[in-house]
Amino acid sequence: MKLQEYRSKEILARYGAPVAPGETATTPDEARAAAERIGGPVVVKAQVLVGGRGKAGGVKLAATPDEAAARAAEIIGLDIKGVTVRTVLVAPAARIAKEYYLGLVLDRGGRTVTVIASAEGGVEIEETARTNPDAILRLPLDPLIGLQDHQVRRVAFFLGLPPELRKPFATTLRGLDRAFMESDADLAEINPLVVTEDGQLEALDAKIVLDDSALFRHPDLEALRDLGEEEPSEIAAREAGINFIKLDGSIGCMVNGAGLAMTTMDLVKLAGGEPANFLDIGGGAKADRVAAAFRIILDDPNVRAILINIFGGITRGDEVARGIVEARETLGRQVPMVARIVGTNAAEAALILRAANLITADSLDDAARRAVAAAAATT
Ligand code: GDP
Ligand code: MN
Repeated sequence: MKLQEYRSKEILARYGAPVAPGETATTPDEARAAAERIGGPVVVKAQVLVGGRGKAGGVKLAATPDEAAARAAEIIGLDIKGVTVRTVLVAPAARIAKEYYLGLVLDRGGRTVTVIASAEGGVEIEETARTNPDAILRLPLDPLIGLQDHQVRRVAFFLGLPPELRKPFATTLRGLDRAFMESDADLAEINPLVVTEDGQLEALDAKIVLDDSALFRHPDLEALRDLGEEEPSEIAAREAGINFIKLDGSIGCMVNGAGLAMTTMDLVKLAGGEPANFLDIGGGAKADRVAAAFRIILDDPNVRAILINIFGGITRGDEVARGIVEARETLGRQVPMVARIVGTNAAEAALILRAANLITADSLDDAARRAVAAAAATT
């Protein structure tokens, strides 16, 4: 779960990071009032969960409250990478002398949390990684002893910070580290961390991504979820207890079990198709859950065929088959469905599916090929 910049900044401020307090606004008038309270030049920033807001016109400076209102009017309603801006952050404008990147990420390959730092901040760090990898420091942290003082000093030296900023920098990196650890984050970054013209360290942009699997430990953070910006289908899936991730292909997948769901996606690709989603309906799929899964899959206009792959263990195949047939009757849109049900009561399941005119398949390869062919036939 990604947190908006202003939320991320609130958290980092609690951990002692140098963040200038700002205010959010949803109308130009609110932005003007916020700028009046702040006093002096401000920056007006789109609060959307996508990167590169600056380049997209979502970050603008304003010298006066009236200008802040005008800039807010331009930014609110703006479309940034498919997301409409509803809220802006109004914060004191900084006079930037130099921009740095400072982040903590979970490095799954290295099985550690890693500090990433660069004196080439501001721009997208992925771009720097490609064009100038030597400009980036990666410092893995020992999972048992964590961030060490000598590592903090090493990062400060690598960035070439002036001696008088080493102390505030240490506070910033230590705060970022504690915020990352204590909120079970996957990512906590400040980009840019800047040195201002009057020699102060300041975090101008922040981004925290929380580990969804650890959210149950943080009800206070879970409450910050921005439903306005999530895939509506993913929200519906979460509410129905279905594990679902939307993708860009045309073959809808309905599978029980995460491993089987991934295998199914691989075989769709092998058969020359592209999966429209990852979907795990979980164990003991009943008709109502199957119906919810169908609705979520078919909500995606790109879906041209559905591949149903069920392994009946405790779940009885004939029950799932009945659930599928029942649910299909309630759907607004019909697309070809290919079903492969194996395991407990597979033979009974096949009879039910055939009687209802679903395409059936015995092997998963065969099912994937038929689904891809059925999708191609409808376009
Ligand atoms: P992003 O594009 O979504 O990463 O948004 P950022 O908050 O990082 O802003 C993008 C760029 O706008 C920064 O790298 C800065 O160069 C600039 N910027 C952001 N805040 C300020 C500010 O207070 N003063 C000045 N002069 N520039 C700013
Ligand atoms: Mn940024």
